[in-house]
Amino acid sequence: MKDAGQILPGATLGVLGGGQLGRMFVHAAQSMGYFTAVLDPDTDSPAGRVSHHQVRAAYDDPAGLAELAGLCAAVTTEFENVPAPSLATLAERLPVSPAARAVAIAQDRAAEKAHFVACGVPCAPYAVIESAEQLAAVDAALLPGILKTSRMGYDGKGQVRVADAAALAAAWRSLGGVPCVLEQMLPLAAECSVVLARGADGAFVHFPVQRNLHRDGILAVTEVHPGNIDAALADEAVGAARAIADGLDYVGVLCVEFFVLGDGRLVVNEIAPRPHNSGHYTIDACDASQFTLQVRTLCRLPLVQPRQHSAAVMLNLLGDLWFDASGEQRTPAWAQVLALPGAHLHLYGKRDAKPGRKMGHLTFTAPDAASAREAAITACDVLGIARFG
Ligand code: ADP
Ligand code: MG
Repeated sequence: MKDAGQILPGATLGVLGGGQLGRMFVHAAQSMGYFTAVLDPDTDSPAGRVSHHQVRAAYDDPAGLAELAGLCAAVTTEFENVPAPSLATLAERLPVSPAARAVAIAQDRAAEKAHFVACGVPCAPYAVIESAEQLAAVDAALLPGILKTSRMGYDGKGQVRVADAAALAAAWRSLGGVPCVLEQMLPLAAECSVVLARGADGAFVHFPVQRNLHRDGILAVTEVHPGNIDAALADEAVGAARAIADGLDYVGVLCVEFFVLGDGRLVVNEIAPRPHNSGHYTIDACDASQFTLQVRTLCRLPLVQPRQHSAAVMLNLLGDLWFDASGEQRTPAWAQVLALPGAHLHLYGKRDAKPGRKMGHLTFTAPDAASAREAAITACDVLGIARFG
C-alpha cells in the first residue's frame, strides 16, 4: 500500500534549473518511470532538451512557477542560486525539497558560516564585511585571506585573494561593495566532500568521502577509493556533514565540502543543497547514484545506504579541451578515451564550448584504485588535461 505522502512512478517531477545537474536528475527520474518538467529561462538547456515538459520562464516568474506547479507532483532544484522565495511559493502548492529555508542558508556565505558555528563544526576564521566600518575593523589575523561575495559565487567566481588591508579594501570595491565574507587563507593539504541524502523522516545515508582536486577554483579531479583519505578523518567528515544536515532539518541530497589542513585538521568549506560535481562518479561506481537518491528523497521513498562497487576517478571535461594550442576548435579524441578500460563518458549536450565551462565528465571505474588512476592519467594525456598527483 502507498504510504501517505509517497509519490510513485508515473507521477511528474519538476526541477528548477536546466543545467547538467537537472539533466542527470531527469535521466534518473525517467529511468524509474517518472515524467519530468524543467523550468529554465532557456528552452535549449541541457535538462530541458531531455525532459518531457519544459517551462520557459525566469526562476522568479509567478506565471512560470504556477505552470510548473500545475504539471508536477513535487519539485526539486538543481541550481543553488534559484531564489529561495520561488521554492517557498511552490511549497504552498506541492512538496518541495530541499526546503526554501535550507537553500536560503546555502545561498548566503554569512548565514552558511553561522550555521556551521551553530552546529559546532569548525570552519575557516572569517569576518562578514557589509559596510565600510566592518571593512576598517577587520582583524589583521585574517590576512592573507580570500574575499568572497556572500551571494551568487560558484566555481571560484566572485572571489579575490588579498594579501593585506589595502588589497582587501581594493578588492571589496572591485566586487562592488556588496556583502562579502573574508576568510583566512588556510594551508590546504587536501580537499574532500561528502554527498548525503536525508529523508523527510530524518533517515540518513551517505556516499564514501570523495577526495577532490580543484584547479583555478573549479573541480578538476575526484578520486574515491579506499585509502584516498585517512579513515578517521573520513568518519569525522561524515559526522560533521550529518550534524550540518540535521541542523537544517534537511530533506534531499546535500554536499558538504571540506578542507584538510597541513596539521591534519578538518575544516568545513561550504555546502551545496543539491547533488554535486564531486558525486558524479556515483552514477557508474555505486549501486545508487546521487540523482536516484534525489528522486527518492523528493518522492518520500525509502533510503538505503548506497554501496560503492568500483574504485573511481572522475575527470571534469571543461570547454578548454575543445580548443587546440593555437585556439582552433577541435573535437576531443573520444574514441581514444573510450578504448581505455572502465571509461564512462558523460557529455551534457551544451552547444558552445567555452574555456572553464563544464561540458561533461569522464569517470573511470576499476576493481582497484591503481587501475582506475592509470586509465584516468592516460586519458589526461590523450585529452590534454594536466596530470593529477
Ligand atoms: P565556490 O563556491 O566557487 O566553489 P569555494 O569557497 O569552494 O567557492 O572556493 C573554491 C576553491 O578555492 C576551494 O575549493 C579551495 O580550493 C579554494 N579556497 C577557498 N577558500 C579557501 C581558504 N579559506 N583557504 C584556502 N583555499 C581556499
Ligand atoms: Mg566550492
